[in-house]
Amino acid sequence: MVYDPLISDFPSQQAWPNSYWSSTVDKPSRQISLKGTKQVDVAIVGGGYTGLLTAYYLASLYNIDCCVLEANQVGFGASGRNAGFVLKGSGRLGYQQMNQKWGMEITKGIYREFSAAVDRVEQLIDTHSIDCDMQAKGYLKIAHNPKAYQQLKAAASFISTHLGSDANFLTKDELSTNYMNNHQAYGALRLADGFGVNPLKLVMGYKAMVSQLGVAVYESSCVNEWITENNQHRLLTDRGEIVAKQVISAGNAYTPKQFSSLVDNRFLPILSNIIVTQPLSSSQLSDAGLSTHQVTMDTRLLKYYYRLLPDNRLLFGGRGAISGKHSADPIHGERLKRAMCDSFPALSQIEIDYNWTGWIAAAIDDMPHVHNSAGAGYSLGYCGSGVAFSAQAAFRLAQSVAGTPLPNLPIYQNPLPRFPYARFRRLAQRAYYHYAWAKDRYF
Ligand SMILES: Cc1cc2nc3c(=O)[nH]c(=O)nc-3n(C[C@H](O)[C@H](O)[C@H](O)COP(=O)(O)OP(=O)(O)OC[C@H]3O[C@@H](n4cnc5c(N)ncnc54)[C@H](O)[C@@H]3O)c2cc1C
Repeated sequence: MVYDPLISDFPSQQAWPNSYWSSTVDKPSRQISLKGTKQVDVAIVGGGYTGLLTAYYLASLYNIDCCVLEANQVGFGASGRNAGFVLKGSGRLGYQQMNQKWGMEITKGIYREFSAAVDRVEQLIDTHSIDCDMQAKGYLKIAHNPKAYQQLKAAASFISTHLGSDANFLTKDELSTNYMNNHQAYGALRLADGFGVNPLKLVMGYKAMVSQLGVAVYESSCVNEWITENNQHRLLTDRGEIVAKQVISAGNAYTPKQFSSLVDNRFLPILSNIIVTQPLSSSQLSDAGLSTHQVTMDTRLLKYYYRLLPDNRLLFGGRGAISGKHSADPIHGERLKRAMCDSFPALSQIEIDYNWTGWIAAAIDDMPHVHNSAGAGYSLGYCGSGVAFSAQAAFRLAQSVAGTPLPNLPIYQNPLPRFPYARFRRLAQRAYYHYAWAKDRYF
């Protein structure tokens, strides 16, 4: 039974998905699960990037006693099954929109955090020699229609003028000569510093870093109940209990539906779907017009994202089903294949070797939030872009646990707003998909 955060009770007894990534690693056999009662200063729920790195920074920077509780195996959640794009950004707001909403100082502050996030991931990979198949740098954002072309041009100029980044605008010809002959592209914005990694190898690398610090990572240890009494937290699992002064909820989109008032109804879990082709030969690559391994996304509301993997398979992702129950319906993979062939018609006869889905956490205000008060905190709402930002969020969460004030930015100072009429989130999502499909196609 596929775990659905709005339907299922708990995300326990689930295996890694049958993804391309899980075919690239040996499944670790040794797992420690929680047994009996243990006491720690900080308990972290969720063994993905956010949870593991929060533990890493708490232990390495502040020597704070902590542990991680993971319902399944590390990497079960989005961290072990995403597309592996390490990007300067999170949420869904562009920098011009942020400028309109909050002004230039805040926009620059958020940009600095997103930039630090990419640097942080790179540094962690480097310092801890994490073998996660880092690919060539560069992030291409493809304009899917003439209006998006003009908007991207304006975005490139805004970023270069105000944020000092290396943003280049590419015409369709420049794009096809130097990167890809994408039949759906009108031009592209290229940022110099995004890159691709194997996300499962990355999260396993984070787990090793945390374990080396002596922090317990309990797997197959789903928190079924969180009780707060006498200024203490009790986290109950099937076979044990953690008593902690503070708790960090890092279950992100995999957080169960009624977990804690801290996070309940503050996100909408959305399925993203990925297909991976067979390895492409050099003639297939040249027929398709694919000459870059740089990470690529388009400007649609219902975005497609893609990149060539180190073994020249093409990874292609986009939206999946609305509910977990329908996630395995082949129509979603078939829709992705059609979209892939619209961009690269020469791939129409290519086999799809892998097809899997995962949950991302959408925020009502389109931005991630890191929040910590009265002994309980979270980082949530990455809206599908958390590979890089989770590292910065974890660093900031650890700072806030240690009592260091966080930068005066809305992503750190305000809790994630709750969804109004939360029980109708899926209805609204369905309506949005219809609207977005029409907008992407006709406007
Ligand atoms: C298909 C897909 C493609 C994506 N592509 C990209 C990309 O290319 N770039 C990018 O930046 N982002 C991408 N994302 C988003 C990114 O993967 C996430 O933002 C990020 O991995 C979130 O990490 P996390 O540690 O916060 O949560 P997760 O990795 O989801 O970890 C949460 C963990 O908490 C555990 N958990 C939940 N409840 C409990 C409980 N009660 N007790 C114990 N454990 C619990 C779960 O088992 C899970 O393992 C993608 C996501 C998906 C699904």
